[in-house]
Amino acid sequence: MSMSSVGRPTQPAAANSEVGFQSLSGGRGLLQDEPLLFELGGWDKTGVDLDEPEHDASDLGDLARTAPIGLAGLSEPETLRHYVRLSQKNHAIDLALYPLGSCTMKHNPRLNEKMARLAGFADLHPLAPVSTAQGALALIDRLAHWLKTLTGMPAVAMSPKAGAHGELCGLLCIKAAHEAAGHGERRRVLVPTSAHGTNPATAAFVGYSVEEIAQTADGRVDLADLEAKLGPDVAAIMVTNPNTCGLFEREIIEIARLTHAHGAYFYCDGANFNAIVGRVRPGDLGVDAMHINLHKTFSTPHGGGGPGAGPVVLSQALAAFAPAPWVVSGGDGFTLTEQDVGFGRMSAFHGQMGMFVRAYAYMRSHGADGLRQVAEDAVLNANYIKARLSAEMTPAFPDGPCMHEALFDDGWLEGTGVTTLDFAKAMIDEGFHPMTMYFPLVVHGAMLIEPTETESKRELDRFCDALIALAQAAKAGDAERFKTAPHLAPLRRLDETQAARKPRLTWRPEPITVAPAPLAAE
Ligand SMILES: *Cc1c(COP(=O)(O)O)cnc(C)c1O
Repeated sequence: MSMSSVGRPTQPAAANSEVGFQSLSGGRGLLQDEPLLFELGGWDKTGVDLDEPEHDASDLGDLARTAPIGLAGLSEPETLRHYVRLSQKNHAIDLALYPLGSCTMKHNPRLNEKMARLAGFADLHPLAPVSTAQGALALIDRLAHWLKTLTGMPAVAMSPKAGAHGELCGLLCIKAAHEAAGHGERRRVLVPTSAHGTNPATAAFVGYSVEEIAQTADGRVDLADLEAKLGPDVAAIMVTNPNTCGLFEREIIEIARLTHAHGAYFYCDGANFNAIVGRVRPGDLGVDAMHINLHKTFSTPHGGGGPGAGPVVLSQALAAFAPAPWVVSGGDGFTLTEQDVGFGRMSAFHGQMGMFVRAYAYMRSHGADGLRQVAEDAVLNANYIKARLSAEMTPAFPDGPCMHEALFDDGWLEGTGVTTLDFAKAMIDEGFHPMTMYFPLVVHGAMLIEPTETESKRELDRFCDALIALAQAAKAGDAERFKTAPHLAPLRRLDETQAARKPRLTWRPEPITVAPAPLAAE
């Protein structure tokens, strides 16, 4: 494998030789090898045609640039091709079933995209006068109404930008409520062992100490352990339901009762709301605060860090502490309440308008019966996968059905010499993005698969057929296929530990030797 000047592997040489053929340029089929933009375009070229500026005396003095700026210079087609070639290397929900458990990668309907691109929504400036943004405010108000209706909660904060940001919002409401009641001494937050990493991280970020709640053998919160750890210094519990083992917390009402009996609040991580939407209202279960990832349940796009949206529904006890702003409808239409009566605000403006439009379009196109079917199909699809794959793989909780995701452990790989990581990498060769691996941590070598409701039986079968064939190859002793996988991807097995621990995020130019063009000051 050859390296670029910054040590980045450039040529998928090994991948080519693997299939017995090596292209001369490093290309692969119609996919060309792709260097960095900076490696591709020399600094001395430019893709734009600008007139030489009039050489007025510059007032930059010795701040004037004396060396080239070092920007990549490419022609328009070179630039376009660079990004299109990169996009071909990026896997996407529009290419295949994307089985990432807990992340809920579902189809993003094109209708939503069309609505979000309506100029009145897409071109709206956050500081536009309220009188010119009535339609947008009406949409936020309607979306808020349906989020409250679906969850059975009286209030919702719309501005959080993601699930984790929503968790922060919810815990800040809880902290403000305790402080207002003179209970600032409540400093502990209880979190089950199977929780998503953002839960303990959020609690720590708010300044709480975090304590784990044990889990029962059937993958649920251990009530006895919860009760033993609740006390006058506990501010809140954070429980995901359905939890990250893909299981419904059957004792949820008792969990809420115990929590409230000890004066603590119940934060529910609602990232997995797609499994229960239209079937159960978290407000009826005793939840005080819950974020809803619009990018999971309501099909808005995610990945690449956003933009997401994580509105937080709040119980009556917490509603008064909600952050600004919120939409109020009155005789004169809609207005925005900006005063800081709650704990302050989560962000400069109102939230992710484009995501609100998409989520609202998704709700309206499904209707009440359709949203209920979302949850039913999400659960049905996950159970279909669980049932089919259980023939070859070991489900972590074999008894009873799962919710929206099917969790397997690595028990079935014992003695094959193949690990969860190897198996996941081999999936890439079969055209499937790996499932969530090694999470939740409570299951050895976890493989967490979430198909979502938007997959047809035919797509589910393609996926299951591929995994069953791989599982049989692993058991038949074909460890080589796995150990060095992926074989057919643009790059082979990468050192992910090194990439995570010592990411190389900057590009350093080769020393530039040619003198720069004379600048005006000279
Ligand atoms: C996705 C997820 C989160 C975090 O949501 P982001 O929008 O990625 O910040 C939190 N908890 C659970 C259970 C999740 O699945």
